[in-house]
Amino acid sequence: MAKSTRNPSWTRDELLIALDYYLDNSEDYFPPTGNGVLDLTRRISQVAKALGLTGSNTLRNANGVSMKLLNFRAHDPNFATKGLSRGNKLEEVVWSEYADQPLVLKKVVTTILDITYVAATVDTPVLPDDDMTEAREGRLLTRLHRYRERNATIIKRKKASALKQYGHLCCEACNFDFHATYGDRGEGFIECHHTKPVSELAAGKTTKLGDLVLLCANCHRMIHVARPWLTVKELLEALAKKA
Ligand SMILES: [Zn+2]
Ligand SMILES: [Zn+2]
Repeated sequence: MAKSTRNPSWTRDELLIALDYYLDNSEDYFPPTGNGVLDLTRRISQVAKALGLTGSNTLRNANGVSMKLLNFRAHDPNFATKGLSRGNKLEEVVWSEYADQPLVLKKVVTTILDITYVAATVDTPVLPDDDMTEAREGRLLTRLHRYRERNATIIKRKKASALKQYGHLCCEACNFDFHATYGDRGEGFIECHHTKPVSELAAGKTTKLGDLVLLCANCHRMIHVARPWLTVKELLEALAKKA
């Protein structure tokens, strides 16, 4: 069977890393043979690998990386960039989300690069579930968030601690109680959400009970349904507004 050697589209993670480099070096011409672009290409390739992306042996080469940087320049109001291609839609989105927040972006990128080797060993699918929209911070951090909050051991401890304290399990945002509503079938059912901002997740750190909140499936889904993900406080504000 012939293997497709077409390279996959750039992911949000890779674009975030490229944009961070662009903002640090926005005066540069980004020659593909320059050390800066070569180093950047290595970092991006590492992330592409952690994401499980496969393609031809040009999967993230210096020419492609240099072109992405110039695509970002086409969005940069500090440059007259007639004739430069603006790239695809995702580049525009990433630019609009982060170009004016270079420090926030740097933190996200540092965390992505830090967790690259962990994420590569986390045995979860490349694409996030349907019930979780990929975070603004990219797929690797989405995956790590999901992995952390679905750890069976810590979920068991969190539920046991809530049961001991309150005598029942209910959603910390809307108070929904699966057992009260669905009877025996709902007993013990509740989801956990990891409250740490994903840019602060770190490799090798264990989840503490205090990092988790118990949420019903609806509230949890509302947090993750669109970018940026909501904090629990923002979710509560949304609930209060409609009441
Ligand atoms: Zn709820
Ligand atoms: Zn969550």
